[in-house]
Amino acid sequence: MIPVDEALDKILSHAQPLGFEKVSILDALGRSIAEDIFAKRNIPPLDNSAMDGYALKSEDVRQASQDHPVRLVVIEDLPAGFISTKTVERGKAIRIMTGAPIPKGADTVVPVEVTKKEDRLVLIFKGTGIGENIRKSGEDVKQGDRVISKGDIVRPAEVGMLASVGRSFVSVYQRPLVAILCTGDELVDVDGDLDGVKIISSNSYTLGAQVKDCGAIPLQLGIAKDRKEEIEEKLRQGIRTDVLISSAGVSVGDYDFVKDVMKQLGMEMVFWKVAMRPGQPLAFGTIGGKPVFGLPGNPVSSMVSFEEFVRPSLLKMMGCRHIFRPIVEAIIKEEIKKMAGRRYFVRGFVSFEKNQYVVTTTGEQGSGILRSMVRANGLIVIPEDQEIVRAGEKVKVQLLDNTL
Ligand code: AMP
Ligand code: MG
Repeated sequence: MIPVDEALDKILSHAQPLGFEKVSILDALGRSIAEDIFAKRNIPPLDNSAMDGYALKSEDVRQASQDHPVRLVVIEDLPAGFISTKTVERGKAIRIMTGAPIPKGADTVVPVEVTKKEDRLVLIFKGTGIGENIRKSGEDVKQGDRVISKGDIVRPAEVGMLASVGRSFVSVYQRPLVAILCTGDELVDVDGDLDGVKIISSNSYTLGAQVKDCGAIPLQLGIAKDRKEEIEEKLRQGIRTDVLISSAGVSVGDYDFVKDVMKQLGMEMVFWKVAMRPGQPLAFGTIGGKPVFGLPGNPVSSMVSFEEFVRPSLLKMMGCRHIFRPIVEAIIKEEIKKMAGRRYFVRGFVSFEKNQYVVTTTGEQGSGILRSMVRANGLIVIPEDQEIVRAGEKVKVQLLDNTL
């Protein structure tokens, strides 16, 4: 049995970023970008108006007031997207729309709200200073700027920036294909014949969902009975994927063959068993350098092991910089007793009350109790050496989703 941190270090040392692929920028959403993105030109390209109003010389309107408006001759109407061929001279103004390039000669824009149009003239009731209401060329992005860095996650803002710099396709890290095999004589698929004694292989679905939730691609190998030949046959179908995951059959029971079969398939075992609860009987190794996880079968053990070990590995393979869930400090509302020597991951619900995070446990913590996982939005992490956590103490909670 090895400590959680050591297990994680070993596992992550075997997870290496995959190759790249080009995708359209909308399809890049949520992916980790695999190249630095530079701007080829200034954004905006030209100085332009931040307002609907009049482009003019500020010296002409310095004295303008409500009682003594300045009268200027309007020489043109300039919509956005067009460049004026005229030059604004003293006593002249160009009617300008937001986004239109500032015409030659003008050094300010007076907003339309402080003006009044009278035929070919405009009355200006309030002056503006040099540069006012003008957006400078390159004020958003300067030519040559690095606007997105390799390893950044593409969010809607990055998608927009990619479009702004003229990129319709971009290189992103590939998504790992993750084979999932569930093992157990007692299992049937969700629509299968329950026969009074069978249980539905919910792990096939939680694991599939967890894989998808990280942005990776699940490949379901189905369910294998607790027979070596069947486990081997099914695992072989997943051997060309990037990551292999099995669930159950990794304890010390008479029918726990998964580790043996994996070794037959050439797995080099890195460790078996981690000092944690739930999730202790985790097996980890590599086949041809690829990570292989033998996860425990109990539904919550399987989920928590995935959270702690598989998820960070998959994110690392996808080139992500942040591979761990956010952690918040919260005040715990009840006492928890535990065994020393193991790290506990207790299902909890975190909320924000009176300026601080508080957390309550979500009920029965048995490793088969999926209900308390359904109710949870976080895992309370209690260190190995601790034996009791008292109500009112601060604890660390790993957030499992964005509900907070
Ligand atoms: P095992 O690791 O094979 O001893 O399984 C531990 C417990 O997890 C048993 O109660 C199994 O019925 C349960 N279990 C194993 N595989 C699954 C699965 N795919 N879906 C739901 N429960 C499972
Ligand atoms: Mg079993």
